[in-house]
Amino acid sequence: MDNVDNMKVLIADQINQKGIEELEEVAEVVARTDITPEELVDDIKDFDAIVVRSRTKVTREVIEAAPSLKIIARAGVGVDNVDVEAATERGIMVVNAPESTSITVAEHTMGLVLSMSRKIAIADNSVKEGKWEKSRFMGMELNSKTLGIVGMGRIGSQVVIRAKAFGMDIMVYDPYITPEAAAELGVEVVDLETLLVNADVITIHVPLTPETKYLISKPQFKIMKENAIIVNCARGGIIKEDDLYDALTQNEIGGAALDVFETEPPKESLLLQLDNVVLTPHIAASTSEAQRDAAIIVAKEIKKVFQGESPKNVINMPVMDPETFQLIKPFFGLAEKLGKFLIQTAQGNINELDITYCGELAEIQKHDIITRMILQEVLNPILTEPVNLVNAPGVAKNRGIIITEGKRSDSKGFKNLISIKMKADNNEVSVEGVFDKEPKIVMINNYQVDVETKGTMVIVCYKDIPGIIGSIGTKLGEHDINIAKMQVGRQQPGGEAVMVLKVDQNVSRDVEDDIKALAHVYDAVSVNL
Ligand code: NAD
Repeated sequence: MDNVDNMKVLIADQINQKGIEELEEVAEVVARTDITPEELVDDIKDFDAIVVRSRTKVTREVIEAAPSLKIIARAGVGVDNVDVEAATERGIMVVNAPESTSITVAEHTMGLVLSMSRKIAIADNSVKEGKWEKSRFMGMELNSKTLGIVGMGRIGSQVVIRAKAFGMDIMVYDPYITPEAAAELGVEVVDLETLLVNADVITIHVPLTPETKYLISKPQFKIMKENAIIVNCARGGIIKEDDLYDALTQNEIGGAALDVFETEPPKESLLLQLDNVVLTPHIAASTSEAQRDAAIIVAKEIKKVFQGESPKNVINMPVMDPETFQLIKPFFGLAEKLGKFLIQTAQGNINELDITYCGELAEIQKHDIITRMILQEVLNPILTEPVNLVNAPGVAKNRGIIITEGKRSDSKGFKNLISIKMKADNNEVSVEGVFDKEPKIVMINNYQVDVETKGTMVIVCYKDIPGIIGSIGTKLGEHDINIAKMQVGRQQPGGEAVMVLKVDQNVSRDVEDDIKALAHVYDAVSVNL
């Protein structure tokens, strides 16, 4: 490590003074918060670290002009303005401050809840219009009401603490949290339907993913209490706004408070015309404290790097020697596909992953990095923060997932094979994959298959008796889903069998449910690879 005293940090965007003071303890700090892209390319060569918020773009060109750069710090959450791939190639760490906004967003959530339950925003408008309409603004107490929290991650957990202080009973829907995490916060974990039926106030704190897109739309509004209030400080698109408008205007629910929208700003939204909504312009994370904390967090990360310690919020891959990297690279694709397969077939929280590396893979020493890739794919779809090769084991550990790794020389006739057994809350899945020019799945739940890892497949477990395959094909046909390929695996005639159907269209949960409802079908799940 170079002499710490000679380190230079460029502050390229305005950050809180506390972060600067922290950095000044270990480095020369240069603040150039109006630096242009051209100047940045010219001048970055002198710096060991750069701190940005969202204004400055740390492009490949900047990174390639920075021979001394060791760390790029984003004083905030998203890293869209940093070319993480270029940084990784150059062995430059990228860090952020994911936890800096949690309390701030939780407080805004409570603000919106109160604003709705006590009609504060609309009463404020009325008083400013010179009116005194006391009887119009009859409110609802939060004490003893049920708060339904969808997603109990960093922000959801902070909302729990605050809502408890208001005397609220709390229900949580989050299929991926551990019972220990729920017990620690003393919350009741329920399914989404139970939450929606029972909650007086519902608040959303999940990432926007294919699974959570329109998580709350017409069918969900239909089962809510008629005076329920729904709050979204997470991401636009988790609530379907057209359906929310209908639910509000048809008095299916009591009110809504939104900080985030499908289109921002929501200029054309019909919601703007309603009295029973409160809207804020995506400011849930905007406090000077959150900005201060982000600056301090990243300053501490930079200090650690300068002092030869490991930062905790690194979002890119550890630097590996090129030889090992070449050896392992082909198996990344296989690990990625197996991880994607597992998270889509898991029912409930994943508790255990038992990974065995077979054949030539058993010879490679650095399995750890392949395991990290599997974990990255398993965890990424359910978390807001990017899970990557650096933080994957830590995130898995925090979520209580037990990981075991083993080696076996026998690889069932293939050159290499990765075998994974997964235990989730409500099911167990085993899958085996090989890499031979491209990744392939060769075993699902002890049934041999030969499945390319592209597009959408439907996996159906059923009783092997005449007519079942036809009924499944017909059901898919009724939903306009075309079968491109079909494979069947069974152990003995008349026993349990598995069918893997490669299909041309995406398969919704409704279609899966329709297939599951067929006679002699035990389970059906679609997987998008
Ligand atoms: P997090 O990753 O810490 O927590 C997300 C939680 O959602 C996890 O516990 C995960 O298990 C759960 N989850 C994932 N998929 C789910 C599903 N299908 N159903 C139920 N639960 C599911 O994230 P966080 O930091 O708490 O952020 C929560 C949300 O807040 C994100 O959407 C984030 O983008 C948003 N956010 C908004 C602002 C703002 O300015 N309004 C600021 C910061 C964060």
